[in-house]
Amino acid sequence: MTNKQEMKYEPVIGLEVHAQTATDTKIFCGCRLQFGASPNAQTCPVCLGMPGVLPVLNQKVVALGIRIGLATHCTIAPYSRFARKNYFYPDLPKGYQISMFELPLAEHGYVEITGKADGEVWEKKIRLTRIHMEEDAGKNLHEGLADASQVDLNRAGVPLLEIVSEPDIASSDEAVAYLKALRALLIYSGVSDADMEKGNFRCDVNVSIRPVGSTTLGTRSEVKNLNSFRYVQKAIEYEILRQTELLNDGGKVVQETRLWDVKQGRTFSMRSKEEAHDYRYFPEPDLVPLKIDAAWIEKTAADLPEMPNEKRKRFVERYDIPPYDATILSSSPALADFFEETVTLYAKPKIVSNWVMGDLLRELNQENKEIQDAPIRPGLLADMLNLIDAGTISGKIAKTVFEEMLKTGADPAKIVEEKGLKQVSDESELGKIIDAVMENNPKEVGGYRAGKTKLLGFFVGQVMRRTGGKANPGKVNALLKEKLK
Ligand code: ADP
Ligand code: MG
Ligand code: ZN
Repeated sequence: MTNKQEMKYEPVIGLEVHAQTATDTKIFCGCRLQFGASPNAQTCPVCLGMPGVLPVLNQKVVALGIRIGLATHCTIAPYSRFARKNYFYPDLPKGYQISMFELPLAEHGYVEITGKADGEVWEKKIRLTRIHMEEDAGKNLHEGLADASQVDLNRAGVPLLEIVSEPDIASSDEAVAYLKALRALLIYSGVSDADMEKGNFRCDVNVSIRPVGSTTLGTRSEVKNLNSFRYVQKAIEYEILRQTELLNDGGKVVQETRLWDVKQGRTFSMRSKEEAHDYRYFPEPDLVPLKIDAAWIEKTAADLPEMPNEKRKRFVERYDIPPYDATILSSSPALADFFEETVTLYAKPKIVSNWVMGDLLRELNQENKEIQDAPIRPGLLADMLNLIDAGTISGKIAKTVFEEMLKTGADPAKIVEEKGLKQVSDESELGKIIDAVMENNPKEVGGYRAGKTKLLGFFVGQVMRRTGGKANPGKVNALLKEKLK
């Protein structure tokens, strides 16, 4: 093409998530699922794919599949069936993966997502196509080997739930919001610990673009196996850019599977995309079809705990906090519990919310920690807030105290005592400091008295400097005004 065409495109994104179930054993054998076991220590004839062995379905995997199906408003299939997905790869000893194909466990659900843009809270429903069960494959190891590869089959037969979204996602921000919401549902319902560092929650992103206003789908590329929100975000943004440039240059997007290069921050082609018929799917003859009766589904539904969205609504109503606060605070059960426990001890929810969303989450994010990894407890935060209310410490000093509590889990009163952080409210003591400040700054005193009342801030600053930030700001202001009159 000679005429470079600059079209306006919009991205279309669909995600496939693989979540490892919170079971003790694999999906078709009794091998244990312990993270970090030495290679091939957790294998048996079944998951090694020896001839003559038969798979036995782990009921707990089905139970957890039903749970996440219900938590995502899916219809649970009364009758579903496993299928063989045939392909050759050294990490797949049987030569096929047991998965589900034309009759999956659950279908037609949705996940509600929310976010904030330009100060406005937005909400959207992302539809789910299906949820099915399958086994994971093993792992090929190449590192440190000159001319060989080794195979570790500990992961072979690890139970996975594959959760497939419709292509309803319109941006990388929505994609991340969706993944966070889905991850919260998995954790809340006890289906998976969704630990991304362990690979227990991974995502394939399918991205295409189309001219704005068009209703047909463009050709997609699929970036496989992303295990962090940041990589998902970046890989999607990279793909949108790559495809846009490609089309604008008169090229074509080819349907292919790509990988994310962490170091270079770009995707690269792994293989052209296979179609379903390439896998020669057929019903798994070694397993009977799965029948799930209504009673099992009803019982599971009744067992589900309060889900993030219900919690969010309850927080808004009960604690009168903004919906955005409620969304963040309900993002994990541990965080929600921390908030609620603190509020029972210190009954000003918005103040608690500000501390939790601000200082607490900021510090935790910085250290890549979850609330349950930090030594701080609700009682400590409540004690600290009471110290502020009692005038023992200023709001400013509280930040220092809080940082220390977060690191050590120490009692705030003790921190204040040991570090000498107590607020100075004594008027005669403050008076002496103010006198000294005035004596040292005669020009400013003159200026103030001649009408430059803006200099008050300067004097407050001086007093704060002399007291290491510990002077009671209200008292300092009042005393200064009086003495400077
Ligand atoms: P496969 O397993 O071959 O990748 P699936 O149909 O199971 O195929 O999953 C396809 C995923 O890709 C779904 O999440 C779907 O929403 C998404 N998808 C399908 N077509 C497009 C497209 N043109 N653009 C973006 N996403 C798409
Ligand atoms: Mg796929
Ligand atoms: Zn096994």
